[in-house]
Amino acid sequence: MRCYCCSSLSYSHCCEPILLKQQTAGSPEALMRSRFTAYCLQKYQYIVDTYSENERAGITVEDIAQSASDTRWFALNINSTDTTAQIVEFTAFYYEKSKTGILHESSTFVLENSEWRYSTGIIHDNTGMIKIGRNDPCPCLSNKKFKQCCSRIR
Ligand SMILES: [Zn+2]
Ligand SMILES: [Zn+2]
Repeated sequence: MRCYCCSSLSYSHCCEPILLKQQTAGSPEALMRSRFTAYCLQKYQYIVDTYSENERAGITVEDIAQSASDTRWFALNINSTDTTAQIVEFTAFYYEKSKTGILHESSTFVLENSEWRYSTGIIHDNTGMIKIGRNDPCPCLSNKKFKQCCSRIR
């Protein structure tokens, strides 16, 4: 099975060992991908655990579960990574009550005790509901049409 984060790897060779904490994320992008996958799988403890120490204070699993309850994430595009500033710019696609939306964010990551953690993010203006045509290429990079791919999980 291809990984939830839309990499070219299988889940067991991509985000799974990181989510199971058998492996640490080797880069901000790897951590970003694993957090996206954790949202897909509703592994919210992992989301809490991978915030930076400052951001984690006051965030609970219940908060995250509640804010994510109407959202089903289905595709991730990494647009660019800045390995000097440790910023990953991405577009994440989701369904909310069968409508399609995107989160377009530039996330900043920090190294704490030799592990990458999510610090903060800047949300870009085009974040919000979008329309994806049935014959458009699926945003999950499968090279299939949307109607033959992720539109089916809605
Ligand atoms: Zn992955
Ligand atoms: Zn797809």
